[in-house]
Parts: sequence; structure tokens; C-alpha cells
Amino acid sequence: MIDDCIFCKIVDGQIPCTKLYEDDNLLAFEDIHPIAPTHFLVIPKEHIPTLDDVEERHAQLLGDMLYVSAQLAQQKGLGASGYRQVINCRESAGQVVFHLHMHVIGGRKMDKMG
Ligand code: 5GP
Ligand code: ZN
Repeated sequence: MIDDCIFCKIVDGQIPCTKLYEDDNLLAFEDIHPIAPTHFLVIPKEHIPTLDDVEERHAQLLGDMLYVSAQLAQQKGLGASGYRQVINCRESAGQVVFHLHMHVIGGRKMDKMG
């Protein structure tokens, strides 16, 4: 738990969120500023600042983030139309919250990545 981290505070229950999924290691919740009809985040409960800070011991955690994100996307009815997972790593990619998180975005046509 890092005191000035928004997502650690969400994990700790100090900041409310619309929770979609929780287990011992992961939390998924709706993004507060959605950029598509479906936009939620999957985060580890452990404070990992960026994708670059991931260690070998986190390999299962990363796999679980991907798996849970796909399960939730399908539960939200995006299985047929499709959806996108994004991890922004550091400033140039647009990372603003420095607690690792995977965006899951769907419900509209996406532009090509660029
Ligand atoms: P980043 O740009 O770091 O990849 O994405 C951070 C995301 O976190 C943004 O989409 C932003 O809307 C979301 N976000 C920031 N603060 C909060 C918050 O307090 N609650 C929720 N639910 N989402 C947040
Ligand atoms: Zn954190």
C-alpha cells in the first residue's frame, strides 16, 4: 500500500469504485472517465508502478489479469463484437496512474493503434 497512490486507496477501500471482480490478488472496476461504452480496469492489489517493474514472480498475475479481463468482457456481452486491452507504460504511452492497470475497452468501433 503506497499512501499517495489512488489505486492502492481503491484496493484499500478508502476511495470507492464500481467493483466488477475481486480475488486475493486482483481487482476490476469501472473507469471513472470511460472512453467507450465499456471501459473498465483490471489491477493487481500489489503496488507495481509500471509494466517495467514486473518481475518473474508476477508472471501468473499478468496471465490472470488477461484472463479475468477477457472473462469480464465476455460477461458484458463483448464476446461477439470484440474489445481491446491496453496497458500504458510510462509517460509517452499516456500512463497517468503509476499503479499497474489494464484497460478493457469496448462497445464501439476502435481506431487502429497509432
Ligand atoms: P492511464 O492513463 O494511467 O493508463 O489510465 C488511468 C485511468 O484511471 C484513466 O482512464 C482514469 O480515468 C482512471 N482513473 C483515475 N482515477 C480514478 C479513480 O479514482 N477511480 C476510477 N474508477 N478510475 C480512475
Ligand atoms: Zn498503488
